Amino acid sequence: MCGIVGYVGNRNAGEVIFQGLKRLEYRGYDSCGIASIDRELKVKKDVGMIDEIEAKHGLSGIRGSVGIGHTRWATHGGVTKANAHPHLDCSREIAVVHNGIISNHEELRAKLEARGHVFASETDTEVVPHLIEEYYTSSLEEAVRSALAEIEGTYALLVISTREPEKIVAARRESPLVLGVGEGEMFVASDIFSFLKHTRRALPLDDGEYAVITPRSYVVKDLATGKEKHKEVISVEWSDEEARKDGYPHFMLKEIHEQPHTVASALNIYHEDVAKLAEMIASAERVYITGAGTSLHAAMVAEYWFASLAEKVVIAIDSSELKNKGVVDENTLVVGITQSGETYDTLAALRYAKQHHGSTAAIVNVIGSTATRMVDHVLMQGSGIEIAVCATKTYTSQLTLLLRVALELAERRGRDVSRLKGELRSLPEKLSGVLALEPEIKRVAEEHFDVKNYLFIGKGINHPTALEGALKLKEISYLHAEGMSSGLLKHGTISLIDKDMHTVAFVPAHGENRKRIMSNIQEVKAREGKVIAIASGESVACDACITIEECSEELSPILFAPVFQLLAYYVALKLGRNVDKPRALAKSVTVE
Ligand code: GLU
Repeated sequence: MCGIVGYVGNRNAGEVIFQGLKRLEYRGYDSCGIASIDRELKVKKDVGMIDEIEAKHGLSGIRGSVGIGHTRWATHGGVTKANAHPHLDCSREIAVVHNGIISNHEELRAKLEARGHVFASETDTEVVPHLIEEYYTSSLEEAVRSALAEIEGTYALLVISTREPEKIVAARRESPLVLGVGEGEMFVASDIFSFLKHTRRALPLDDGEYAVITPRSYVVKDLATGKEKHKEVISVEWSDEEARKDGYPHFMLKEIHEQPHTVASALNIYHEDVAKLAEMIASAERVYITGAGTSLHAAMVAEYWFASLAEKVVIAIDSSELKNKGVVDENTLVVGITQSGETYDTLAALRYAKQHHGSTAAIVNVIGSTATRMVDHVLMQGSGIEIAVCATKTYTSQLTLLLRVALELAERRGRDVSRLKGELRSLPEKLSGVLALEPEIKRVAEEHFDVKNYLFIGKGINHPTALEGALKLKEISYLHAEGMSSGLLKHGTISLIDKDMHTVAFVPAHGENRKRIMSNIQEVKAREGKVIAIASGESVACDACITIEECSEELSPILFAPVFQLLAYYVALKLGRNVDKPRALAKSVTVE
C-alpha cells in the first residue's frame, strides 16, 4: 500500500504533488519523495511523515511544471533515504515512482549490473529506471514498453525524463492508477481523491494499460500491442468524503474490499522480521500472545496454528488479564497485538512483561505508535490506515502474519509445510473469490437476520472465528450475538435454542471438525433453531449456506472473515446503524 501522484501543467508541480501526497498518506507513510524537471532532474526525498519532510526539505518548493511523487510503504529494502522513491537511472535523466513489487528484480538487477549499471538503493523498483535507460533511444514511451515487457510482478508506475520534459508515461498492472483530466493540465495518481480538488474528470486505467500524458493531451494504449484504446472519461460527482471512501458508501465496506491487497502486503513483509519473531518464540520457555477484542481473536487463532503446525504451546490471553494470570520471568516472551499500537490494556501488558524481565514483541499497524517504541521486536502489518471503527482488514493481516510466523517455526522444527505455504501464496486471489460472493451474502443478511439473538459456533481453529463473527455483528448492529466452541453448546447454551434463535455455523471443507460441526448443526435443527452455514468446499443443507471455495482448515479463519464481516455490514445497514462509527466505541481504546 503506497501512493503515487504525477502532474504536468502550468502550475508549480511541487506544490500540486505535495498536496496530492498528503491526501494519499493513508496508503503508506514510511518515507516519501518528489522528482521534477526544471531543465535537469530535481529530487527531494527522505524517511518520515510527509509534513516532516516538507519542513526539512521543502518538498512543495521543488521547481518545474512536470513531476512525480511517492509515499512509500517499504516492501523491498529497508526504510532509508536511499530506498525512498523516486529512483533514477545512471545518467540521472529518468525518474520513476512505483507502487507494487517487481518479482524478477534480482535477475534483472544482476543483468543490468553486468552491463555496468550502478544501483543506489536496495529496492526492487530501481531496476525499472535502469532498464528503461537500456532501451531509451528516442522515445520514452517505447523504452517504457520494452522495459515492462521484461518486468514481472505488480505495478503502478510513473516515469519522467529530461529528454522529453513535458510528458509522463504511466502504466498499470494490478495496482491502482487513475488519470485526472484538467484544462491545460493533467494529473495521475493512485486514487481520485488526491486530485479531486483540481478536476472532477477522471479516467481509471485497467490492468495491462499505459498512458502518455502531456499538459494538453493524453492517450491510453495496450501494453502488449501498443494499440490505442478508446476509454471514457468519467465525471466524478463525489464529495471529498465520498472520494476518500473510493466510491464505497462506508469505510468499512471499502476496507473489507481492500483485503486482497492488504493481505498481499502482509505476505510481503520482510522474511527476516517474521523469522526473528519465530526465533524469539522458539527460544522462550513460555509465550503469551495478547490483545483485546479482534486482536485477541487473532491471537486465539494463532494458538491453534502454533500447536498444530509447530507443536509449540503459546497462550492467547486477554491483555487486561495478563497481570492476573500471566507468569512472566526472564524466560517469558509476551507478544502484543494492537492495530493502533496504543491500546491501553495491551501496552500495560507489555509494560508488565518488561517489569518482570520478560522479552517483548508486537504486531502493529500504525508506524511510530507507542507499542512500536517499547518492545524488543516489531512486526509491522502494512495494512494502511483503517478508518472504520470496526476492525476488518487489520484482522486478516494480523492472521496472515501470525500464520507466516507459525510456518517459519514449523520449518525450523523440520516439519514439511510446503502445501500450506503454497496455499498461503494464493490467499489474495482466494480472498477476491470470497468477496465476489457479496450479492449472495447481502441477500442472506437481508432475509435471515431479523431476530434479536444469534449464536456463532465453530470448532477447533474456527472457535475464535465464531467469537470474531459474533463480535462484528454486536459492534455495528447492536444485536445480541454469542460466539462459542460448538462442542460447548450441549453443556448449557442449547437450552436457548428455539425458532427465534439463529445460529451461524462455520464449516471447514474436510476432516473431523467438519463432521463434528455437522452434528452440532443437527442438534440445533432438532430444536427448531435456524441455521446459516458458512462453509468451505461443499455446501451444507441449512436455512441458508454461503459457500466459499475449498481450502484447508488452517487457512479457513482468514477466508471466512470477509463473509462474516459482510454479513455484519449488511445487517447493520438494514437496521440503519452508523456503520463506520458505532455508538459507544472508539477506534483505539486508550483507557483501562
Ligand atoms: N516495492 C517498492 C519498494 O519497496 C514499492 C513499495 C510500495 O508500493 O510502496 O520500494
